[in-house]
Amino acid sequence: MIESPLLQHLKGYIGGQWTATGEATFDVYNPATGKVLASVPSMPVEDVRAAIEAGKSALRLTEPYPIETRRLWLEGIRDALKANKEEIGRILCLEHGKPLNEAQGEVDYAAGFFDYFSKTISGLAAHTLEEKPRDCTWTVHYRPVGVVGLITPWNFPIGMIAKKLSAALAAGCPSVIKPASETPLTMIAMFRVIEENVDLPRGMINLVMGKASVIGKELCENPDVPMLSFTGSTEVGRQLIIDTADQIKKLGLELGGNAPYIVFDDADLEKAADNLIANKFRGGGQTCVCANRIFVHEEVLEAFGKKVAERVRGMTVGDGINGDVDIGPLINRAGFDKVREHLEDALQKGASLVAGSKPEDLPKDTLFFPPTVVSGVKSDMACFREETFGPLVPMVPFRSEDEAIDMGNDTEFGLAAYVFTADEARAQRVAGGLRFGHVGWNTGTGPAPEAPFGGMKASGIGREGGSEGLFEFVEPQAVPRGF
Ligand code: ADP
Repeated sequence: MIESPLLQHLKGYIGGQWTATGEATFDVYNPATGKVLASVPSMPVEDVRAAIEAGKSALRLTEPYPIETRRLWLEGIRDALKANKEEIGRILCLEHGKPLNEAQGEVDYAAGFFDYFSKTISGLAAHTLEEKPRDCTWTVHYRPVGVVGLITPWNFPIGMIAKKLSAALAAGCPSVIKPASETPLTMIAMFRVIEENVDLPRGMINLVMGKASVIGKELCENPDVPMLSFTGSTEVGRQLIIDTADQIKKLGLELGGNAPYIVFDDADLEKAADNLIANKFRGGGQTCVCANRIFVHEEVLEAFGKKVAERVRGMTVGDGINGDVDIGPLINRAGFDKVREHLEDALQKGASLVAGSKPEDLPKDTLFFPPTVVSGVKSDMACFREETFGPLVPMVPFRSEDEAIDMGNDTEFGLAAYVFTADEARAQRVAGGLRFGHVGWNTGTGPAPEAPFGGMKASGIGREGGSEGLFEFVEPQAVPRGF
């Protein structure tokens, strides 16, 4: 079992109290050892309703929380996260499995969103238009949407909530937060440090844990929750659109990806290989911005493949808490099996193994999947069509710029893409042609607090981060004044 000063209360948090009704619990596992870390409450619908009520009591519409107050909340959370980075990161590492330094780095990343919005929150101040349409003065206010439901996945147990919560608090929206059941402990720890260090109104942030069918349903159906912000699978995102259609709720959806990583023959191959390793193996390959299809110009396919294989052979896989590993375990058996199936499918359909493990040599009783590279991948293979979410690098040859753009776009998804070329004009053309919300040019970097991030097509609705993300949780209201 996990011991931590930040986990004294293994409960939900409603209206400023650690609480949970009933006896039902679920277990949280360490994917590196298979052992149970903790049992946490599986909260019933009454608790979700109580959390929404608590949120309602914290919502101020007629006398909004001043911007200066909201700025102090954001700064306070930033500082509290930074001061507790090591312990929150340790908890995150234990329940997610990612290497300790990566887990602690994620806490810094999360703090960055509170920091960025604390510095840009004045953009939400009311302003009066210069024009006077209809002989009135027009003032535009940015009203909080109301109590918001924030639902997050396990792959960034604190990063994902930080993007949503920072913008929601900046807007003055109380929230009801539901973490993924694989990783609720990081969220409990975050609530604990906020409770101890930040003077938030009671009910401003609420934590409920348990079954998505119970919590998600109530958040979708309760008319006191006018907006949901969700990060997770496209399948669940679609369901949320259906389940909120009756009430026409506002939705922020960050859904799946199937990122193309395009390497042209004029690219700096060393740089492209280094960036691919950093991008692809982050979180063990379990992120929605991880390169999923690596398109390599046929002239450099062999040379690039060698560079990637060399790097992959030097990587270590193991328990992230030991600090000296590059890749931790995958999150669970279903995740492991999906990567194995994609590898088997690719090899059966004619791809060749360049580095890593044959399917039959994969470990049977652990979740440590070795980084594996396959070449000669085609569009009928599962690893081309679906998000693998694991350390499999599928390489696909291409001949022309148009072919690279077409193959990159040959997916329902449109989240992140990457292009490596020394030719600026080409980079501009390719970025314009790729229907993705994030296109790295000569970098495999993912999102940052300062820039808008989100998907086109089936990868979602809305943006997180940047000034665009700041405005996600407000309803602009125009007030023309007659004289
Ligand atoms: P992942 O496989 O990345 O965890 P999911 O979409 O399955 O992606 O889950 C993301 C989050 O959404 C988790 O917190 C999960 O519990 C929650 N979730 C799953 N199904 C629903 C649903 N029908 N309504 C609301 N939330 C859901």
